[in-house]
Amino acid sequence: MGKSKIIKTKDNIKFSMATLDEIVNLNCLPTGYHTAHLPLLDSCDHCRIPIRYLTGKTYICGHSYHDKYYNIHNGCKHCLEYYKKGITKQAKAFKKGLEKIEDEKDILNNEESNENDDNNLNEEENNNKTEDIDNKLQIAINTIDQ
Ligand SMILES: [Zn+2]
Ligand SMILES: [Zn+2]
Repeated sequence: MGKSKIIKTKDNIKFSMATLDEIVNLNCLPTGYHTAHLPLLDSCDHCRIPIRYLTGKTYICGHSYHDKYYNIHNGCKHCLEYYKKGITKQAKAFKKGLEKIEDEKDILNNEESNENDDNNLNEEENNNKTEDIDNKLQIAINTIDQ
């Protein structure tokens, strides 16, 4: 019997599923297969003990948990981690986009006028905004944990 494994090629990531004896595109698989922690087959993704030893379920993301561990985290901890990372990445990309827009504005402003006092004020305001986004994001992520 074969083992489940991730197959990475140059332009694609595929997942070989031992149970199905089939290779499927990773994009078609539940969230669990995108996370750093691949779902264990027949075992709890928290304690790695086979599901059948205690009451537990396999969830929609593909991860399985004994009921008591799923309840502690009130959800799938591996997928939560994956989503949190995704949010941070998105926010960073978004911030980069904002900074780029501001840089372009600065260039335009400098070309149009020599009144640097105004520009300096704007810059300070922009830095505060970026910090504000950082703080709000951190607060939001912290709330997920509770
Ligand atoms: Zn368990
Ligand atoms: Zn999961």
